[in-house]
Amino acid sequence: MAELKEENIKDEKWHSLDVASVEKGLNTSIETGLAEDVVKNRLEEFGENKLPEGKKRSALMRLLVQFHNVLIYLLIVAAVVTAFMNHWVDTFVILAVVIVNAIIGFVQEGRAEEALEGIKKMLSLEALVIRDSNRQKINAEELVLGDIVILSSGDKVPADVRIVKAKNFRVEESPLTGESTDVKKITDTVNEDVVLGDRKNMAYSGTLVTYGEATGIVVATGQRTEIGKITQMMDEVEEITTPLLQKIDRFGKILSVFIIVIAVTFFAFGYYFRDYTYVELFMASIGLVVASIPEGLPAIMTITLAIGVQQMAKRNAIIRRLPSVETLGSVKVICSDKTGTLTRNEMTAKTIVTAEQRYEIEGSGYKPEGMIYKNDEQIDINRETVFKKLVQCVRACNDSQIKKAEDREWKVVGTATEGALQTLSYKAGLKDYNPKRVDSIPFESDNKYMATLNQDEDNNYIFLKGAPERIIDMCSKQLTQDGEQEIDHEYWKKQMESIASQGERLMAAAYAKVDGSIDNLNENELKNNNLIFLGLIGIIDPPRDEAFTSIEECKKAGIRVIMITGDHAITAQAIANKLGIGENKDVVMGSEIEKLDDEELKKVVMTHNVFARTDPAHKLRLVKALQANNELCAMTGDGVNDAPALKRANMGIAMGIKGTEVSKDASEIILTDDNFASIVNAVEEGRTVYDNIRKTILFLLPTNGAEALVLMGAVLIGVTLPITPVQILWVNMVTAVTLALALSVEPMEKKVMQLPPREPDEPILGGYFLWRITFVSILVAGLTALAYSYSLMGGNDIDTNRTIAVNMLVAAQLFYLFNSKKLNETSISNDFFNNKYVFVAVAVLIALQLMFTYAPFMNTLFGTAPLTAHAWLIPLIGGLFVFFIVEAEKYIMRKIL
Ligand code: ADP
Ligand code: MG
Repeated sequence: MAELKEENIKDEKWHSLDVASVEKGLNTSIETGLAEDVVKNRLEEFGENKLPEGKKRSALMRLLVQFHNVLIYLLIVAAVVTAFMNHWVDTFVILAVVIVNAIIGFVQEGRAEEALEGIKKMLSLEALVIRDSNRQKINAEELVLGDIVILSSGDKVPADVRIVKAKNFRVEESPLTGESTDVKKITDTVNEDVVLGDRKNMAYSGTLVTYGEATGIVVATGQRTEIGKITQMMDEVEEITTPLLQKIDRFGKILSVFIIVIAVTFFAFGYYFRDYTYVELFMASIGLVVASIPEGLPAIMTITLAIGVQQMAKRNAIIRRLPSVETLGSVKVICSDKTGTLTRNEMTAKTIVTAEQRYEIEGSGYKPEGMIYKNDEQIDINRETVFKKLVQCVRACNDSQIKKAEDREWKVVGTATEGALQTLSYKAGLKDYNPKRVDSIPFESDNKYMATLNQDEDNNYIFLKGAPERIIDMCSKQLTQDGEQEIDHEYWKKQMESIASQGERLMAAAYAKVDGSIDNLNENELKNNNLIFLGLIGIIDPPRDEAFTSIEECKKAGIRVIMITGDHAITAQAIANKLGIGENKDVVMGSEIEKLDDEELKKVVMTHNVFARTDPAHKLRLVKALQANNELCAMTGDGVNDAPALKRANMGIAMGIKGTEVSKDASEIILTDDNFASIVNAVEEGRTVYDNIRKTILFLLPTNGAEALVLMGAVLIGVTLPITPVQILWVNMVTAVTLALALSVEPMEKKVMQLPPREPDEPILGGYFLWRITFVSILVAGLTALAYSYSLMGGNDIDTNRTIAVNMLVAAQLFYLFNSKKLNETSISNDFFNNKYVFVAVAVLIALQLMFTYAPFMNTLFGTAPLTAHAWLIPLIGGLFVFFIVEAEKYIMRKIL
């Protein structure tokens, strides 16, 4: 058969063709799908199923943006002014600083963007397809025309498809139509010329499945999809900005106004009260301006954030929105799912209870090996009619499979709960029971059950499994060895509690024999047929080992952990007690939440840590109640219906493995391993990033402060400037690119997880910070002036005096860097050597200073002079002095505060 060619199918109106014609037109089959070699050909002919990358900021733009900053504007003005005054060296140095700064910013931000891009790639979409008669998960980029795709609730539609089978299938198409209510989709043909929104037999790429299941044939991929036609861009590259960066930006603006006012006052003062020349004063004022500007700050902050994001990705938490890095540090409550997040999601059925018997099942994991016992004796499955029917029921009413993977481990394809039941059916010797499925009602967390309509050699059945409370309400009879009898609610209630108190997850099964005339299953059919209760299944899902330590860590860090689960209350309680959540407090049930009004819930949410038998709507109410208490909360979720709660939470966290696309779209963070511990690690990283940013500020600002003070002091007294403006620029540049950069990779402090969460509105520069900046500024300015005077009295020339002063200033910064490694703890600890970049930075800085002092061209450019060896003692002693004085200051402040 001739292969598909683009020109032959370009104008097809797939929605107006019936299913068979679509199948034929695209040369595919709904039952078997495409063959691999056909897929290969089509990939070559039509290309990958992806949209062209969103327009990134061009390199030029990115470079230009580096200059777009008030502080830099000020410097450029200074350069122009000095040029007019024919101070070419100054012009040159100022411009050099501006350019070096821009290049550093450019390179580092480029790396930051790359890192974020790489992380975005990890979030690629998958699609479930039928190829060569097999169901398989593939990367959505590999989809081709004619592929048979299976869609279910929570998926993002990966390409444009013509729907050929649909079961309660609903899709939300707002990316295309702007309409946010979902639309029911069908398989019938529609009129050729209806608009997009009315093509009810099509599902379009980028839209979201909110309910049900469907099978579709891919009719357009990549740029040929409707979304591809509308926009040539996917998500735009996220701007590298966060509230903190914006605050710093604002801070920069205020600072520049402040600097200009000071400079003008300074100029006026010098002019009227001191006899400097006009030119001298002008140069000094410009010196003051450049001295006070922390040019390096914005770039270093961006870099610190980007490093934090990368660090988190390494620890299995992918940040989707950059501001979350900061928010993480303020998280006060983590609301976590139980199943799969706190527990391993490795389920094994251990206990079965029927109306008359209790069975114990051996084995662990999904490996289908293990005996089944009744009263400590091995059973013969054919003599246990109720047990047999129950296992048949849960095998038929099941969408999962268990398989031996290449590493010889047994794994589930499908959900863990259902996998456990498949393993059970193998152990019971019923793996050959495969009745035909006529119809089904899929599991939804809201309903907590799943039902199927099946046909075996002899009979037609409805099989039902789900949460026992739900199932028992639908049954009036129970099955015994001798036939049906009235259901005994008391008995089942006791049995449920006894299984749940061991921490086992509870399931129940029921069935009904029906006649062959029914071919459609819905809630009415379940009501109309007398369902017969078969029994209970207890499934263990052990807590993750890491969860214990992570919860301990949360307690120390002042973070509350709330467990939210769809499981039975007693199961939830048992697991919560094991994990140390809740501490024997009452479990609140979903049904109880419903009875509470918002005010009452606001109180309950502060006193209870375990919520059971909840459905997704309750999560939203819990988030709102926590927020009403001013608690900044993180919330995990995986299902479609979790999306509203994830969006509403300050920090939505989606599951990378079992989460739906919808939930990922609604979240700030995605966990690649679904593990609770990764949330706690992310919080830890978030706190560290924030600390490092504060350390950087605390480190950089005193340099500027000291320089400004030196200049102002000189003019106030009326002496020669101890440091020239170009020398100041030099100091700012070298300390920012060496020392300050090292702080952005400062490892986290042990105590980060021992302090309560930071208040979200806490100012970056609190009272203590302002004090420290002032204190160190004065200290360093004083030492610089002292060094200068000492050299002056020694009878040295002006260039030598200034060189000593500059080296004193740099040495003070160098030693102060070690103080800055800790915010207010002592720096004299084991952590002194823990950041090797600090030592690299120090080495580079020393090399630069030697060049600054001894290289002849530097002497010309900066007006420096070579120093004698023993002159270096001054900066060395001064630097050590700074280090010990600041340590003493920290010590005293720790005692006072
Ligand atoms: P959680 O993930 O918080 O444990 P779920 O919403 O997944 O809660 O499940 C709630 C209850 O629904 C379970 O305790 C179980 O009884 C039932 N259940 C879970 N999965 C299935 C399924 N595939 N089919 C039928 N019932 C299920
Ligand atoms: Mg769940």
